[in-house]
Amino acid sequence: METVAPQTVKEDWLAQRAWCLSGNKILMTGSARPATSLARQIYLPESAEEIASLVKSLPATTPVACVCGGHESSNAALFASRDAVVFDLARLKAIDFHRDSEGLLVTVGAGVVFRELVEALRDQQGALPVGTGPGVGVVGYLLNGGLSGYFSRRLGLLGQRVVKLTLVTPAGDLRTITPGDELFDAMLGAGSALAIVVDATFRVESSRAIQGAEQRVIVFETRTQAVKYARGALRFMRDYAFANDAVSMELVVTGTKALVATVVFDDAFAGSTADFVKPLEDLAASLQLPVVMAAHWGSWYETAAALWPVIADQTGDPLATLQHCLGTKDIPEDQILDFICDTLVAEAPLDEAALSLVEIRTLGGAALSGRRLPTGNCHHTLFVDLITLYDAKPKTDAERQAIVDLTQHVLDKARQVNGLTVDFSGTHSQPDDVDYAVSASDMFGTQAMAETVKALKKKMDPNNRLRFHPFAKLL
Ligand SMILES: Cc1cc2nc3c(=O)[nH]c(=O)nc-3n(C[C@H](O)[C@H](O)[C@H](O)COP(=O)(O)OP(=O)(O)OC[C@H]3O[C@@H](n4cnc5c(N)ncnc54)[C@H](O)[C@@H]3O)c2cc1C
Repeated sequence: METVAPQTVKEDWLAQRAWCLSGNKILMTGSARPATSLARQIYLPESAEEIASLVKSLPATTPVACVCGGHESSNAALFASRDAVVFDLARLKAIDFHRDSEGLLVTVGAGVVFRELVEALRDQQGALPVGTGPGVGVVGYLLNGGLSGYFSRRLGLLGQRVVKLTLVTPAGDLRTITPGDELFDAMLGAGSALAIVVDATFRVESSRAIQGAEQRVIVFETRTQAVKYARGALRFMRDYAFANDAVSMELVVTGTKALVATVVFDDAFAGSTADFVKPLEDLAASLQLPVVMAAHWGSWYETAAALWPVIADQTGDPLATLQHCLGTKDIPEDQILDFICDTLVAEAPLDEAALSLVEIRTLGGAALSGRRLPTGNCHHTLFVDLITLYDAKPKTDAERQAIVDLTQHVLDKARQVNGLTVDFSGTHSQPDDVDYAVSASDMFGTQAMAETVKALKKKMDPNNRLRFHPFAKLL
C-alpha cells in the first residue's frame, strides 16, 4: 500500500486534501498556514482487505483517522495526532449500479465525491439527496448525517436511503451490515466515530422525482436592505413553502452582497414554477432591489450541479471556515424568523469574512417522516447554516480573532432564543470551538439516541481509536 510520510510530502498532502482550514486552528497557530498533518503515517489503501489487515497489524491502541473528501470544518481527521495513522480513502473510487426486485441500487466506494456520484446518476436517470459541494466526500457526509437543502424534503436524508454498508471495525474485522444490525442506523449519523466504511449501497430514486428549480439573485448595498428582503422572503417561506411538501426553499445571504432565493419543485407540484416565485421578484421590486439573475433548472441533475461553479470561486490561501447550524423542530414562529433577520442576517460577519453565507432553508418532509437516524438533521423543519468563510492570507491575527468573536457573539444570542436549537448537526457544526460543548441529545437527535451511540462506541471502539470526527467532545 502506498504511503505518504516525510514532512514536506505531508504538507503537500494536507494542502491538496483540505478544502478549507478551521478558523479556530488558523487562530491558534498564529500563522495563516498552519500546515501539516501531525499523523505519523498516511496510507492510501486500495481495498477493504488492505485496510483490515493494517488495522489488525497495528497495536490495538493506535489511533486511526479516515479522510474521504477533506471538507470537515475542524480538519480533525486531516491533522490527526502524532501517534495516529491516517487512511486517505481517495483510491476507493468504484461506483457500481445494480438492481433488485424493488429497483435501482448504487454501491459507492469510500473515496467517491459528489461530483462523481451526481454525474454517474445522471447517466442512469437516477436521483439521490446529494450535498451541494462537488468535492464533498459521499461517505464523509453520510456518516455524519448529511442533508440536502434542495432534495431532502422529497428524497429524505442520504442515510435514510442506505441498504448496506461494508466496514472495517476498530478491531480490524471486515463486516457487511444491513438494516436490522444493531450498528446499522447508528453508522448513518455517528459512523465516523464507530467504524471505517469501505463502501455504501443506496436505493436510487428516479430523476423524475424532481421537476427542477427556480433561482433569483438579488443584489443589495446595505445590510438594512438585506434584512428587509429576508424578512419578506421568510414570510413567503412560512406561508407557501413550509405548508407545501412539494417545494423546498432556500434563501442565502452572501458576504458578496447577494440574496439568492431558490425554490426546488418535486413531482407532486402542479402549476407554473415561475408564477410560484413571482412574489419573491415583487418583493425585490418593492424594496427597489434589482433581480440580476433569473435561472430555471429543468431537471434533478441541473439542480444538483447548479452550485458547483459558485463553490469553485470560494478559494483562499488558505480558505478559512467556521460552520454552525441553527433550526427549529416545528414550523418556526414569527419571533424566530425575526431573530434570524434582525440578528443573524444583520450581525453575521459578512463584511469581515467576505465569502461568508447565511443559508436559510426548509427541511422536514421525507427527512422528518423517514427512518430515525442519530442526527439532529432528521428532526428539524427549519435549517439555518451560518458559514463564516474568508481568505486568511490578507488578514492580520487581530482580524482573524475578530471574525471568530463576531461569529460567537451571534451564536451566543441564538442560544438564548426559545425554540431555536444550535449546533445539532455533525456536518454543520464546528467541533473545535473553544469553551463550547454541543449537547449530545441535540447532535444525535434525542437523549435515547445519544445513549445508544455512546453504548455502541464503548462496545465497538473501547480504545477510542476512531477519535478524529465531529463528535469527539461527546464520545
Ligand atoms: C463546500 C461545502 C459544501 C457542503 N455541502 C453540504 C451539504 O449540502 N449538506 C451537508 O449536509 N453538508 C455539506 N457540507 C458539509 C460536509 O457534508 C461535511 O463537512 C462532511 O463531513 C464532509 O465530508 P468529507 O468526506 O468531505 O470530509 P472528511 O473531512 O474527509 O470526512 C469527514 C469526517 O468523516 C470521517 N470519515 C470520512 N470517511 C470515512 C470513512 N470511510 N469511514 C469512517 N469515517 C470517515 C472523517 O474521519 C471525518 O471525521 C459541505 C461542506 C462544504 C465545505
